[in-house]
Amino acid sequence: MPRHQFRGRRTTLEKWPALNPGIKSSATYFDAWVSHPERLGIELLQDGLAANSQAVALNYAELRRTENGQYRVEDQIGGASVAVEPTLIINATGGWIDIANQSLFPPEARPAPLMGGTKGSHLIIDNDELCAALADHMIYYENEDGRICILFPYLGKVLVGSTDIRVDDPETVRCEADERDYILQSLAFVLPDIKIKPEEVVFQFAGVRPLPASTDSFTGRIPRDHFCTVVEPTDGGPPVLCMIGGKWTTFRLVRGNGSGHDAGKTGPAAARCDNRPADRRRAGISRQRAGLACERRHSQGHFRRAYG
Ligand SMILES: Cc1cc2nc3c(=O)[nH]c(=O)nc-3n(C[C@H](O)[C@H](O)[C@H](O)COP(=O)(O)OP(=O)(O)OC[C@H]3O[C@@H](n4cnc5c(N)ncnc54)[C@H](O)[C@@H]3O)c2cc1C
Repeated sequence: MPRHQFRGRRTTLEKWPALNPGIKSSATYFDAWVSHPERLGIELLQDGLAANSQAVALNYAELRRTENGQYRVEDQIGGASVAVEPTLIINATGGWIDIANQSLFPPEARPAPLMGGTKGSHLIIDNDELCAALADHMIYYENEDGRICILFPYLGKVLVGSTDIRVDDPETVRCEADERDYILQSLAFVLPDIKIKPEEVVFQFAGVRPLPASTDSFTGRIPRDHFCTVVEPTDGGPPVLCMIGGKWTTFRLVRGNGSGHDAGKTGPAAARCDNRPADRRRAGISRQRAGLACERRHSQGHFRRAYG
């Protein structure tokens, strides 16, 4: 990728004239972008199913421990359930980890809260002047309150975010009016002359960052790292491996931690394992080099096959 580039105030404003004239300098660097994470999620499921003929992917299904200490997978829509005998349970439910643990342990054996999730809301704005001002760049900046904010072109519109607010119940999160005001204010701070009309906010959404439990008063300081904790049951049931934190950018590393436990490995041994799927491991570097051009050529057919 091209090298990064630093610019002083004058050259920054020459390149992005709409930026706040109070800017001191800018740094431009190149990075990868997961444009459609939901598609990556589907591909991960497909990798898992291809890797083991006994693997089953179930949507809207929950694992639950019954009063007599057995386990059942329950269909949350149809209501059917099936008994299972797990030797290891991996709790990778993100912001729901503590809630899921409530179904996996009797009350007296539940672990202390592991999760300190924070809500992040984003807006999608349809404003041509804003889109043009970005000149195809993502802008990553510090708002007046010290929070890191971003805005970038997205499918012909601009995605702007985000907030960072503690939540207890991930099920109820949504982008609230005060968050919308905060995001628009942060946008006005970085691009002061671009006026956004209310009707130009065409979509808003919120997600929960699965962060570790923390007492830090500034949510921006809660570590964004990931780790696994094994909760051993007191009554001889299967251990529950809880995956705390994690991002799209680190998902293979997180899997390394989990599979390391599964295979009796821990720590550095787990971190060293090659987490790429077998086909990508074999293809190695050469695939990376040929990758982009080839993917572009085949992407239409690939998307048709994979997603219908
Ligand atoms: C605002 C925001 C910005 C982010 N920015 C980035 C970024 O720039 N780069 C990046 O790499 N990552 C980013 N992330 C992180 C990323 O989007 C994911 O949140 C992260 O990868 C966690 O994924 P996860 O699968 O662990 O959890 P989640 O994505 O939360 O998935 C957990 C799933 O478990 C399900 N579930 C809950 N309870 C149960 C149960 N009992 N049984 C079965 N399933 C259950 C839930 O329905 C949910 O689908 C961001 C997240 C947010 C919220």
